[in-house]
Amino acid sequence: MPRPIRATIRPQAIAHNLQRARVATHAAGSRIWAVVKANAYGHGIERIYSGLASADGLAMLDFDEARLVRHLGWDKPILMLEGCFDKADYASAFELDLTVVVHQQAQIDALASALAERKDSNLNVYLKMNTGMNRVGFNPQDYGAAFAQLRAIEGVGEIGLMTHFANADLPNGADKALALFNTTVAPIMAQYPNTMRCVSNSAATLTLSNAHFDWVRPGIMTYGGSPFADTTAAECGLQPAMTLNSQIIAVREIQAGDAIGYGSRFVAPRAMRIGVVACGYADGYPRHATEQTPIAIDGVRTHVVGRVSMDMLTVDLTDVPNAHVGSTVELWGTHIPIDEVAQASGTIGYELMCALAARVAVTADNHQ
Ligand SMILES: *Cc1c(COP(=O)(O)O)cnc(C)c1O
Repeated sequence: MPRPIRATIRPQAIAHNLQRARVATHAAGSRIWAVVKANAYGHGIERIYSGLASADGLAMLDFDEARLVRHLGWDKPILMLEGCFDKADYASAFELDLTVVVHQQAQIDALASALAERKDSNLNVYLKMNTGMNRVGFNPQDYGAAFAQLRAIEGVGEIGLMTHFANADLPNGADKALALFNTTVAPIMAQYPNTMRCVSNSAATLTLSNAHFDWVRPGIMTYGGSPFADTTAAECGLQPAMTLNSQIIAVREIQAGDAIGYGSRFVAPRAMRIGVVACGYADGYPRHATEQTPIAIDGVRTHVVGRVSMDMLTVDLTDVPNAHVGSTVELWGTHIPIDEVAQASGTIGYELMCALAARVAVTADNHQ
């Protein structure tokens, strides 16, 4: 028998969460790029594909993923968030009709020569501005000139204006960046009023109505994770798209003073009942999970005790008297928000979703 650990993915939750983005941006009437990078934040693009139907476009950065979604029949726009990495990518961009981000001068030059070689082709682009993240994007003082250069290249179609916020999850955290973006694009908007703008990630989609513009780019919220440290996904009206389940494979009684697991991190303060769960860090469970990390046994909440090992972890069953070998364990999902597990382990839900290991069997739950 295979190990009892299994992830269940619900495309229906994705559809619900995209609808949540639709409602949040209703006033602006924004179109939605569902961000499906990193194989849909670990959920599997193919597995969730049916849940993406209402999105207006898909955003990603791997050209193989773009090819995959075209192969699956996606005929709406696709946005490549980091643009082209090399010359071959321009051929893919033409072939697959992709919208490509342009974030530095070398990409403008490469785009110009790619278009010069293909006289009959054109390509839509998004011009990225650096508003404080300081990773990629043109600085505001260079942005207008970059826009003018793109306008002058024959074959460049629509030019969208974009930025990505460093702090949209904090109260007023995006104010400065948004003001800088607005000031910088003002001359472009005055001259070309129909130019599209796109700046909002999940946090801004949920909270910043003045940043919704023409398109938004929700990522984590699409999967039912909260972009905020202090607001839960449920409070945001989101449903988790991934549940990670396993089973108890052993139960033992220990005495006060007995230690559990590697490094004897946890020492029992009293007699305790301990359950061993078939899940470890080689499945993608965070090794840094503390004793505050919640876990549900047959729907009853308890917590991790001792260090997580490669293939097993241990839980406190003292207050779950009916738990037994074979009891169902939820590591995260509907009872245990992934964000709570992440917070108790010093990370974020994004990382846990993306880290789900290849050895975990995954099934799609296509019920409502
Ligand atoms: C990943 C990403 C997003 C989505 O961010 P979330 O916080 O997951 O909503 C949006 N825009 C860009 C450029 C990204 O790289």
